Amino acid sequence: MGRRQAPVRDRRRSELTNFFRTGYRAAQGAFLLLSSTDRWRRPFILIRRVLTAPMTLRKILNVPPVVASYLLSRLTRRPIVLGRPFMLMLEPSSQCNLHCPLCAVGAGRLTRPQGHMPLKQFNRILDQMGPYLLHLTLWNQGEPFLNPHLIEMIRYAKARKMTVLTSTNGHYLADGRMADRLVRSGLDDLIISLDGISPRTYRGYRKGGDLGRVLSGIDTMVRTKKRLRSARPFIELQFLIMKHNQHEIEPFRSLAKRLGVDRISLKTLQVETVQEARQFLPRRRSYRRYRVENGSIRLKGKLGHHCRWIWFCPVINSDGTVCPCCFDKDNQVPLGKAFNAQSMDDIWHGRPYRNFRRRILAGRDRIPLCQNCSEGLARLVVRKEAV
Ligand code: SF4
Repeated sequence: MGRRQAPVRDRRRSELTNFFRTGYRAAQGAFLLLSSTDRWRRPFILIRRVLTAPMTLRKILNVPPVVASYLLSRLTRRPIVLGRPFMLMLEPSSQCNLHCPLCAVGAGRLTRPQGHMPLKQFNRILDQMGPYLLHLTLWNQGEPFLNPHLIEMIRYAKARKMTVLTSTNGHYLADGRMADRLVRSGLDDLIISLDGISPRTYRGYRKGGDLGRVLSGIDTMVRTKKRLRSARPFIELQFLIMKHNQHEIEPFRSLAKRLGVDRISLKTLQVETVQEARQFLPRRRSYRRYRVENGSIRLKGKLGHHCRWIWFCPVINSDGTVCPCCFDKDNQVPLGKAFNAQSMDDIWHGRPYRNFRRRILAGRDRIPLCQNCSEGLARLVVRKEAV
């Protein structure tokens, strides 16, 4: 009798497992589909990240308290923090090979120490935070591929079950060995900046750049993925829309198709001053995130007194300084030092973070760092299209 019941029990258990697995896959597919359309992309992007991330039970159980604490904080206007960050942005390098005029690194405006994040410190941070992370973004300022340990970093993160995204100006991909190592590393998403399809337009912003080298790098990546029969990394070409290149948007679309990348994104430009606005912003208003009126620039849309970054995703720069977000380019609001004995847990729950969250809830528009920030206004910032 007992012997007959055991296979029935096993069969039921496997049917149940299959049922949940199929449901989970169907939900994943539906969210991927919805989030690939322009209209539904934003609301679903976070959910998609959660659903498509490699999971462990600890990672799954950590998400609801973090999201709940963010929503509760918005509701009560008090900084409540539960759980651990499930996203992280790490800066592999704060140096760059180009001299883009609006970039703090490229224009030589960065005053904080510049260099590469040491692998040992990177591993130490991931050992602490990895068990809760769903997603790692590997960039901030600077060119990530200048860090000689970038591939080891990606591998170390992938071994800890999370999705990994990095972004590059594309000058280090033409080397077949690098492309091979990158595809084999398990990297999920790769953004490549390409703001012009003719050498003249390209160099109009990417000073010191070489369009031919970037195009050859993209081609090498696409061919390497095909050779290794790998769907990853998902390659996105990013086009910053400016005055001197806005006429190249259509040819950029066609070029992306010819190159065989997965997606393009058209991104509006961030400027700091009216002079920069006059020099760089495109003429077409729908391509701008600002209104330029009476000698001043103002973001379109209303700033809400909340911010997902400081509840979901700390930023750690190459010198170990923990900052609220990528808008803090020069350690303007240091919240801790990740390379010290201090743990990331202590920093995340520490007084500087708490005080900063309180200031955001009290009035984000009164914090200089946050006044030029698109968080919560993201629909104004970027448009993504499948190729
Ligand atoms: S600048 Fe924006 S993203 Fe950064 S802390 Fe302020 S509101 Fe958040």
